[in-house]
Amino acid sequence: MKKRGNTIYSLFLIILISGLLFLQVYIFTLSSSVLTIASTCVSVLLAIALIERLLSSSHKDKINAELELSLSTFNTSTWRYDVKNDRFRKVHGSPICGNEVCKEVFIQNIHPQDIFAFNKEFNNLLNRKSISTNITVRCINKTMTSGYGFYQFDMIAKSAGNGSLEYIIGIERDITFDKLNDTNYQNILTSLNLSIKASNLIFWYYDVEGDMLYKLVNKEFVPTCNLHEFLSLSLPPNDRSEILRIYQDLLDKRLGDFHGNLALMNPKGNDYLTYECYAMPAKDSTGKVIKVVGTLQDITMKHAEHIIAAENNKRFMLAMKTSNFVLWEYDCNTQLFTAFNEPLNNYNNDVKLSIINYLHVLHPDDINKLVPINEHLSLRHDVNFSIDLRFKDTEDGEWQYYTLTGAPFERDDFGRVIKFAGIRKNNTHFMKLNNELKLAKEKAERSDKLKTMFLANMTHEIRTPLNAIVGFSQLLQSATSKEELDRFCKIISQNNDMLLTIFNDIIDLSRVEAGFIDFTCINFDMSSQIESLREIFKHKIPEGVEFIVDNPYSFFEVCLDWNRLVQIYTNFINNACKYTSKGSITIGYKADDKGIKIFCKDTGIGIAEEDQKRIFNSFEKVDSYIQGLGLGLSLCNAIAKAAGGSIGVESEYGAGSLFWAVMPCKPKYELKKEMNTASI
Ligand code: ADP
Repeated sequence: MKKRGNTIYSLFLIILISGLLFLQVYIFTLSSSVLTIASTCVSVLLAIALIERLLSSSHKDKINAELELSLSTFNTSTWRYDVKNDRFRKVHGSPICGNEVCKEVFIQNIHPQDIFAFNKEFNNLLNRKSISTNITVRCINKTMTSGYGFYQFDMIAKSAGNGSLEYIIGIERDITFDKLNDTNYQNILTSLNLSIKASNLIFWYYDVEGDMLYKLVNKEFVPTCNLHEFLSLSLPPNDRSEILRIYQDLLDKRLGDFHGNLALMNPKGNDYLTYECYAMPAKDSTGKVIKVVGTLQDITMKHAEHIIAAENNKRFMLAMKTSNFVLWEYDCNTQLFTAFNEPLNNYNNDVKLSIINYLHVLHPDDINKLVPINEHLSLRHDVNFSIDLRFKDTEDGEWQYYTLTGAPFERDDFGRVIKFAGIRKNNTHFMKLNNELKLAKEKAERSDKLKTMFLANMTHEIRTPLNAIVGFSQLLQSATSKEELDRFCKIISQNNDMLLTIFNDIIDLSRVEAGFIDFTCINFDMSSQIESLREIFKHKIPEGVEFIVDNPYSFFEVCLDWNRLVQIYTNFINNACKYTSKGSITIGYKADDKGIKIFCKDTGIGIAEEDQKRIFNSFEKVDSYIQGLGLGLSLCNAIAKAAGGSIGVESEYGAGSLFWAVMPCKPKYELKKEMNTASI
């Protein structure tokens, strides 16, 4: 309006100046100099007025443009509300109200929760309770994810000349960005405060020049004490020098920062608490350390729990170790085992193991047992398992018996198993005990059976010679000739010997089994003593069987109990006589690593391999129908063992046997020149 008025006024001045110039030309033609000067003056004045007018209007336009630019830079728009017509009209920018909009329509742009507050302020202006106001409300803004932006309205009421309210001018500014930034900042501050509270953190700094330690109390750093006081009052005496050293290192930049646990006196001054401490130096522009700043966090409980947990863990691991338990964990993703107390990884938990490592030491017969377990692990089956497996000992290569148990231990968000855990228990000791018990039971049962057989046998064995003795003793009186008498006496004497041997064996064996066996050792020459055996046994050798004494030494001095040797020889020879009907029976001895080896070799019936071991046990006989109590060899075995020696047999069924016994001693000997011991 005003601009248009200005333009009309300028046009009017141009027409006036042009008219005057025309008049001037006309006057000039009339040659009236006074009039010409007067009209020129008026024209100049009018031209000046016109130029001024034009200059001032362009200046104002420029200011207006600048004003509009600066308003739009501040996201500001302006409107005017015409009270009488109930119309919002745009003055500048792009106000929310748009143009030519009634109040009711404008209000629809405001967030429902803010309409009441806006109306209140606006009505105050309408009702002339106030002449200006400002309010921030949320208005529709499609660019925001929430659909609303924040707008600040500054409103001024304008009255007409008669005093009635004419219009309201509103300046509206989009402050969404500021508001959000502000909200974000507030949120960050709130979370920071909250986390400080929740984490129990203490913020501090030490002013190096001022020698003062400050602590954050209620958002403000307050001085607490100087370095000397801190060291002497807060720290345990033993820690002071160490903390001072760390401080010096930070100060002298030898240490970039510090993180560690500190023991500090509690506020009551009666106990030390454990704090986790972070500290780093703060430098000025010249690089000089002017402050040491840091945090402290009370971790006394955590620390104590940690110590208890560490101790419990130690105990647990110790229990695992002493009870031979291997604790394992299987990661389904890496398909590797972590095992504690595991000989396979040299007891180093950091060394991961694969199923291949286990397969290398698994007993070949148990591989099939491991296949389903491997399936459970690799296919993440939700199952518990327990199997018995044998693994080779990494040290001595012996098979060890284990029970392997496992179960799902950890799952992912979808409930899929991601880890298995379990134990491997070494049962070898129990298995061995179990086997020994089983053997002992079997032995006890067998010996019970054998003893029953022995009693039955013994009745027979004793009765036979006794009957002979009794019978032939009665016949003695009725003997008709000297030859008959001699024959009867010989039979009685033979049966006496037999009976004596039986009783001696029984008595000896019971003494030996009870642990009473004595040795009376003396020095003697075996090479001459063995010849006496030739005399004793030559009469007992069956007809047609050659009796050989193998004596290759010119002397063989030993310190032994000769009678015990005779006992062993007697049993060997008696048996050889019993089971040899042709060929030869050879007795002898030879030097051995451990002392002397005595032996008796026959060409008799021999013994099958499966029977060779058991015949050294009491009451064991290969053929129960053959005469004998099954005691002789077990007695020899007991004597040899009691002397610290050993006993054995080499035999082939049907070809003969070689019985031997090694008695420990230190023989001094010399071979006969023409002999050697290659025959044995
Ligand atoms: P026995 O008094 O019954 O002979 P032993 O303990 O002396 O008891 O022998 C145990 C068993 O060993 C015998 O019953 C016999 O079967 C076997 N035996 C011992 N010596 C010989 C041998 N020289 N040849 C064949 N078998 C033998």
